[in-house]
Amino acid sequence: MYKAKAYSAASATSQLASTTIERREPKETDVQIEILYCGICHSDLHQVRNEWSEVMPTVYPCVPGHEIVGRVAKVGSAVKRFKAGDLAAVGCMVDSDATCPECKAGLEQFCRNMTLTYNFPDKHTGGVTYGGYSESVVVDERFVLRVPANLNLAGAAPLLCAGITTYSPMRHWNVTKGQKVGVVGLGGLGHMGVKFAHALGAHTVVFTTSPSKKDDALRLGADEVVLSRDANEMARHAGSFDFILDAVSAQHDINAFIHLLRRDGNLTMVGAPEKPLALGVFGLIMGRRSLSGSAIGGIAETQEMLDFCGQHNITSDVEVIPIQKVNEAYERLLKSDVKYRFSIDMASLKAE
Ligand code: NAP
Ligand code: ZN
Repeated sequence: MYKAKAYSAASATSQLASTTIERREPKETDVQIEILYCGICHSDLHQVRNEWSEVMPTVYPCVPGHEIVGRVAKVGSAVKRFKAGDLAAVGCMVDSDATCPECKAGLEQFCRNMTLTYNFPDKHTGGVTYGGYSESVVVDERFVLRVPANLNLAGAAPLLCAGITTYSPMRHWNVTKGQKVGVVGLGGLGHMGVKFAHALGAHTVVFTTSPSKKDDALRLGADEVVLSRDANEMARHAGSFDFILDAVSAQHDINAFIHLLRRDGNLTMVGAPEKPLALGVFGLIMGRRSLSGSAIGGIAETQEMLDFCGQHNITSDVEVIPIQKVNEAYERLLKSDVKYRFSIDMASLKAE
């Protein structure tokens, strides 16, 4: 074991604060990464504040962070794809059993024995996993991704969660040229959804509660912007969407969006609000519409997404912050005031 600087929360009501954690020394198949940037996902906030207590209660101290980009410091003797000095990235998962039907299908995110990057039982230490708000991390090679060399690193970090979580359902539901696609909520996930829908050739419509984000939505690739709290604007789009991606982090009316789907259209939830959402089933029955969910994406698909971003020069629009501003950033996330992802410059941790 070795010691690493990190930021952790001591309880659901504590601020994140500087700490020291123990990491395992890299084993045969492990890659040790010096973290350069880590994105701030709204899931970090949900978990730090134990908002998902029913499905995944938070174990404290909690070191969040699953949008990790860094440089390889050291590799185990059996590691083949990485060497010291390489750029590397880690997303929401660090392990899975590799043998179940989900793993064999490249869908490690649904493996029953999958290990999340933080707040999950850690088979190596006997404690819980610690995430990327830290100076380094040790991860099995199978869960380490390659970062295309042309991408800005601060902007590439959020691809590891916000990127794959929006790319994967769009690929699964075959978003293509000529389709009408909606993205609900212009936050970290939503703004990546807009970039991907646009890059895939869809007519892209952003639904936002923030009138001030209208110009940005168009700049990010939207063809139209709808203020979702304006019933008249919403009514103009009734029955017209092939696919809608809902990336909202809080309570909202999903029925209003289901009614905008055409026959056989699909609305996929990636947003994970704390409390259950009410569903009016007639919106689904009429028009044979479907409602589904999606969780991040498998490892092979995450690499495919990173390569797609390399080819199309897609990164997240980031506000780079020092780790000392993380609590402030959380408060701004709650106010939907992020343009459009916070990316922590981990060099700032050296000052602690
Ligand atoms: P975020 O940056 O905070 O963005 C959320 C956006 O939702 C806000 O910018 C805002 O957009 C909208 N919103 C917030 N409160 C709202 C309200 N009361 N009513 C309507 N709209 C509201 O969060 P994020 O990091 O993108 O994450 C979004 C959600 O996805 C979170 O719940 C997160 O946990 C979840 N998530 C899921 C997965 C997965 O695998 N399924 C992966 C990552 C994250 P406007 O200002 O445009 O309205
Ligand atoms: Zn995330």
